[in-house]
Amino acid sequence: TTAIVWLRQDLRLADNPALYHACRKCAHIIPIFIDDPLPTSISQLGAASKVWLHHSLQALDSSLQAQGSRLTLRHGAALDVLRDLIASTGATHIYWNRVYDPASLARDKHIKETLKSVCEVHSFNASLLNEPWEVLKADDTPYKVFTPFWKAMLKYGIQHLPLPMPEHIPTPANLPESLPLNALKLLPTIRWDTDMMAHWQVGEHAAMQALHNFLPNGAAYKDDRNLPAQQGTARLSPHLHFGEISPRQAVYHTEQYLAEHPAAESGLRHFMQEIGWREFGYHLLYHFPHTVAQALDSRFDHFPWADDYDAVLQRWQRGQTGFPIIDAGMRELWQTGWMHNRVRMIVASLLTKNLLVPWQAGEQWFRDTLVDADLASNVFGWQWTAGCGADAAPYFRIFNPILQSQKFDPDGEYIRRWIPELQGRDNKQVHLPHELGDGLRDYPLPIVELGGSRERALAMFTQIKK
Ligand code: FAD
Repeated sequence: TTAIVWLRQDLRLADNPALYHACRKCAHIIPIFIDDPLPTSISQLGAASKVWLHHSLQALDSSLQAQGSRLTLRHGAALDVLRDLIASTGATHIYWNRVYDPASLARDKHIKETLKSVCEVHSFNASLLNEPWEVLKADDTPYKVFTPFWKAMLKYGIQHLPLPMPEHIPTPANLPESLPLNALKLLPTIRWDTDMMAHWQVGEHAAMQALHNFLPNGAAYKDDRNLPAQQGTARLSPHLHFGEISPRQAVYHTEQYLAEHPAAESGLRHFMQEIGWREFGYHLLYHFPHTVAQALDSRFDHFPWADDYDAVLQRWQRGQTGFPIIDAGMRELWQTGWMHNRVRMIVASLLTKNLLVPWQAGEQWFRDTLVDADLASNVFGWQWTAGCGADAAPYFRIFNPILQSQKFDPDGEYIRRWIPELQGRDNKQVHLPHELGDGLRDYPLPIVELGGSRERALAMFTQIKK
């Protein structure tokens, strides 16, 4: 028997149920990755994520080669590619791990039904603690509020321990031909990516390393996670997105660490709860697939967002709003492909509330520039901040970027790191460069007046929430 193992957002060998079960059951394994042009599938990535994917596929191929196998790369509609491979290799089985965006779910369902007459198709959960349909309210409806969702999830427990790496990947004498990685054209032609990637190590090994580097600091997570100048969080998000590590592995290793370091209990429970937020985003996306493009709260379908916002959007994207914490965040994003969570909330609040730019425009920019861009978490994060999603921050919570800056970056360390124009400013001035300092020629004036725009947003949101 020969099995095709179709790898997608599970770019690892350990705790990979599709690979593990295929290796146990079949005499020959053909690991493949398909660059499928389906909209919103893994191939429809933003520029930063494409770069990450390039390196992640390279790392996966090296791991497979170390086991005597290799990755076969193909381009084209997945069903056609699979049919072609079945015909040319005589494969009798196909194994994959599920991907949960609505377009991929529909595609995979169709593929399963179409191919079941010619081979056995097996699919598994590899990227969530539990399936999005497993934890429901007592009346079998989905949760829309995080805390009861997470309580129910903890009660339900994680059903399986992470699986080990297969001991051996049985490889046929001839693997099918593969496209060279460069043929997927994931790297940009003008090579802006080298500086960005200098901030990261990619692949399964690096993902586990990132987790283990974080755990000894886990006791301080509760406080440090809000300070963007610190490396207080795990920076696991791109690894989790591409499945270089599974959330089950992350939770399992955290529990192991806790068993030996009970003092880290409160910090690390909080960390696992954040993984729960990721899980909640997937739960919502699965049960409310329209949220890919529209607010979960249908009262926002006709919200009077600004319509002429190109100029302000551009200033926000470029980190030229005149609010240091916002500009630092937007420049961190541009340069590293990642932004601290606290700052993501602050920049999203300014864009959607003070500037009344539709959340979709911000979501799109994040999708293009984040290495961890993830449909479920991104849509959820934007709708949460804009106040139009599930478990929304109360609509009257409008982050004040100056107060947030003073509270979470008190010494201006984060601001100075990303905004060279403000390097000479003292700890007070750095948050309010134009109010306290001499006129700054090379740093813009604030893009909006905070008090008035806050009142305007409050009035509009109050109206809609009635
Ligand atoms: P840690 O604090 O170490 O947390 C560990 C893991 O938990 C993260 O890797 C992530 O998988 C998960 N997690 C943590 N916070 C959240 C959260 N608020 N929502 C969902 N999952 C969370 N995260 C993405 O992975 N992709 C996105 O596209 C994305 N877009 C966002 C957009 C907005 C407007 C906001 C406010 C948040 C967004 N987030 C997104 C969530 C969060 O900012 C990142 O997951 C986090 O900053 C990643 O850093 P970390 O791995 O160091 O997190």
